[in-house]
Amino acid sequence: MPQPFLTTANHDRDIAGLKYIYPVMSRRAGGLSIGVNFNPNNACNWRCIYCQVPDLKPGNAPGMDFEQLGSELRSFLDYVQHGDFFQDFNIEAGQGAIKDIAISGNGEPTSLEHFPQAIALIGEIARQAGVFPAAKFVLISNGSLLHRASVQAGLAVLAGYHGELWLKLDSATAVGRKFINNSGQSQIKLLEHLKIAGSLCATRLQTCMFHYQGRLWTAGEKQAYLQLLQILQEKAIPVQGVMLYTLARPSFQPEAGQLVAADSQEMTDFAAEIRAMGYEVSVSR
Ligand code: SF4
Repeated sequence: MPQPFLTTANHDRDIAGLKYIYPVMSRRAGGLSIGVNFNPNNACNWRCIYCQVPDLKPGNAPGMDFEQLGSELRSFLDYVQHGDFFQDFNIEAGQGAIKDIAISGNGEPTSLEHFPQAIALIGEIARQAGVFPAAKFVLISNGSLLHRASVQAGLAVLAGYHGELWLKLDSATAVGRKFINNSGQSQIKLLEHLKIAGSLCATRLQTCMFHYQGRLWTAGEKQAYLQLLQILQEKAIPVQGVMLYTLARPSFQPEAGQLVAADSQEMTDFAAEIRAMGYEVSVSR
C-alpha cells in the first residue's frame, strides 16, 4: 500500500513505523532529512509555546536501545540508498538525495544519558553508508545542557564528523526566553553555553520569529538580538550563521491559537540587519 506523501508539511515522526528514525522533507535542509529521535517519550526540559510535539511532558530522554537504533538506521539508509523509498513515499523527482542526518527529537536530545555514544554510533553508520560529506550531520538542541561533560563529549564526537550544532535561540533576553521557552536560562548562562558550543563544534543559531500577545517579536527583542550578536563578535565566540524561520505547523501548546507567524518582509528585513553585521543568514517560511 502506498505511503502518504512526504512533504514539508508532514513531520509525523511515526511515518516510517520506526522508534528512532523518521524521514522528513525539510524546508531548512532543502530536501530529505533523516531524523533521529532520542525522545520517543515526548519529554523535554523546556516548554516552548510553539512546540509541535504532541503530549509534550517535562523530563529527559529515556534509556537508548543502541541495538535498535543501529539496526533502524542501517536498514533505513539502505532503503533510501538502494530501495524504493522515494517511490514508496511519493517524493517528487529531483528530490532524491539525503541532505542531512538530523538529531531532532520530540524533546531535548542532549538529555540522553549515553549521548556521546549515540552520536558516535550514528556518525559511524552514516560514514560507512557513504552519506557524508554530501549530507550534513546536524544536532538540533536547545543548548540548555551544554554544561554537562557528556554533552560536551558528544559535541566533540559530532565535530569529528564535521557535524554542526543548530542551537535554539528564540530570544536574546532572559525575559523573552522565559516567555517563549519557559526556560530560566540567564544571560550569563546563555553566553557560557554559546562559548562552550563554539569551542567544540561548528554552531549555528536557529531562531523562530512569530508574534504573540503583542510581546513578540518587538523592536526591543530585535535590538537585543543584534546586541547579543555583537557581544559574540567582541568575545570572539564563533557562530557560523543564523537561521530564521517561523511557524509552519500548529503548536500543541495551550497558546497555539494566539500565535501568529512572522511575515516574509519582517523576516527578510531582520535577516538583512544580521547580514550587515557579517553573519551568514538563511530565512525559511
Ligand atoms: S526545546 Fe524543542 S522539544 Fe523542547 S519544548 Fe522547545 S520546541 Fe519542544
